[in-house]
Parts: sequence; structure tokens; C-alpha cells
Amino acid sequence: MSIDAVTATRAYGLAVHAGAGSLDRTLLTARVESNIRTALEAAREAGFRLLERGASSIDAVEAAITVLEDCELFNAGVGSVYTATGGHELEAALMSGRHLAAGGAVRISTVKNPIRLARRIMERGHEVLLVGDAAEAVAREFDLEEVANSYFDTPGRLAEHQGALGAAAIDREWEGNSLLPMTEYGTVGAVAADQQGDVCAGTSTGGLVNKTDGRIGDSAVLGAGTYADNNGCGISATGQGEIILRLSLAKGINDRVIMRGSSLSLAVHEAVHNELSRYGGSGGVIAITSNSEVVCEFNTKAMFRACRTSRGEVGVAIFGAGFKDGDP
Ligand code: ASP
Repeated sequence: MSIDAVTATRAYGLAVHAGAGSLDRTLLTARVESNIRTALEAAREAGFRLLERGASSIDAVEAAITVLEDCELFNAGVGSVYTATGGHELEAALMSGRHLAAGGAVRISTVKNPIRLARRIMERGHEVLLVGDAAEAVAREFDLEEVANSYFDTPGRLAEHQGALGAAAIDREWEGNSLLPMTEYGTVGAVAADQQGDVCAGTSTGGLVNKTDGRIGDSAVLGAGTYADNNGCGISATGQGEIILRLSLAKGINDRVIMRGSSLSLAVHEAVHNELSRYGGSGGVIAITSNSEVVCEFNTKAMFRACRTSRGEVGVAIFGAGFKDGDP
């Protein structure tokens, strides 16, 4: 049976994000805003088209994140931030909610699409999280595209790196010289539920601007920046990795749904607005249940995000709430 012949029996859908931060609306030019929206829509549609044809949520998440990694506007794949010593160290993870299968890779310097590597590590089934050379050896095993570390360079990120090197105390907000008037974040992620009700979540990032070489954030750490469980939900988070790690933010949301019976929207709201905010963290979360209920919450001024479900919900937003634009 071809996947086109699969009859949809249950709702399916996905959400994508490309980071949350202290974006000043007045600094966002119409051209940049339109480029961001186009990229978010392209990622969303790449994933949704697969779901529509009966493909797995894993395929959808990988496809959506690959589009975002290949867009230099965002801090993942090309366009990743620089480390303190002027290189790039990328990280990504992907988790399937069906059997809690997962794969992640950190300190990646030569794999064009770290999310593809995370998936291969998951499917290989030996380890869950691999670092540096060990992870890149798996990329070679699966013939994934390799690039020089300089492939990830972009002029805007370089200016941001040099600006931060010159500043004694780094003001991680807009420094006036980047591609985006929002330099703090830009991590990308996707969550999806397919026609079988299987949930998947993935996150990919270059990390924080001028991070210490070897610093690992939350994105590839399961339970922190990424988590998926069919009985609960799929989650991708963005924001200050050190706080998200300490809170095990994603697993906390899943636990609220499973153990407390919270609705997805209450679980995500509490995690972002009570927990993350209480510890001084800023960021946001996208989440989905196996019935394709999709939620987005952030405690920053803006979060780049988009969603589409088979129930007809469709949106792309930067300000506002949920998946709807509005005043910041
Ligand atoms: N969470 C990422 C990190 O700390 C940054 C981000 O979300 O933009 O590495």
C-alpha cells in the first residue's frame, strides 16, 4: 500500500519554532519579518505535507527542522552562533514518543544537518547521546553531508561574535549589527503527531552567543529542551539552557500531563510562566499531544512559531499569544 493510500483516522499536525527572545518590534524591518515568516511556513509545510501523506511524525520533525537548519536567519545549522574561540559547536536531539526512542548529538562541527544525525543515532539504537568525533563517525556511517566548520559562518553572527568579545559584560540583546534584531536566541524545533497518534519532538541549535567551547545546553538533553511520550506530549523548548536544564523543563511538562492529568495548555503555561519565570529564565515551548492538540507559550516579547493541524488550525506568528499574532 502506498502511503498516499493511507486513510487518515485521527487528527495529525505539527508546530515549529525558531527561538524566543527580547525582540523589539520597531527594529524588525518588513523584509526580515517577511523572510522569517516565509521560512517558518516553509518548515511547517515540509512537515505537514509528509503527515498528510501518512508519513511518521519522525519524518515530519526531521523535514521541518532541516528546512530551519538550512535557513541562515536562525541559530541552527548555517547561521549558528560562534563559540568564544570563533568556531561553531552544534547540538540536536530527536525523540519519538512511541517507544521513547531517542538520539542526540553535541559538539558537532562538520555535519550540515545535526537533526539528521540525531535521527540516525536514534535509529542505530546503541547510544542515545553522542559527543563530537563519536557522533560525527555515525554521520559518516550513514553518509550524511559533511561540511567545513566555516560553512556555518554568516556575516551577522560574526559581527555579533566580535561585538560580544569586545564587551566586558555582554548585553545579549540587540547590538545593532546582526541579521536579526534578536541575537539572544534562534534555536529551532518541531513537534508533530502523525495519523497513528505517534508523537515526536526535535530541537537543533548552535547554542548561546560566545559560549565556552564544550558548553552543552538544554536542546539535546532529553527531558530538558526535548522530550516526547505518546501518553503525554512532545515538547521542544528554547531559552536559557542552564535554567531549562536545571528545571528539566520538558519532562516536567510531560509529567504534569501524565501524572497530574493536567491539560496540555495548563501544563505548558505553568512550566513557562510559573517555573521558568520564577527562576529568572526566559524562553518558550511548543508542545503537542497524540491527538494533535498544539500549544505554544513564552515569557519573552516574541517567539518565532508556526503550526498546522488536520483540524484546520493554521498559523504563523512572532508576537501575540498561542499561534496568533497580535500586539507584543
Ligand atoms: N536553549 C539554547 C541553549 O541554551 C539556546 C536557545 O534556545 O536559543 O543552548
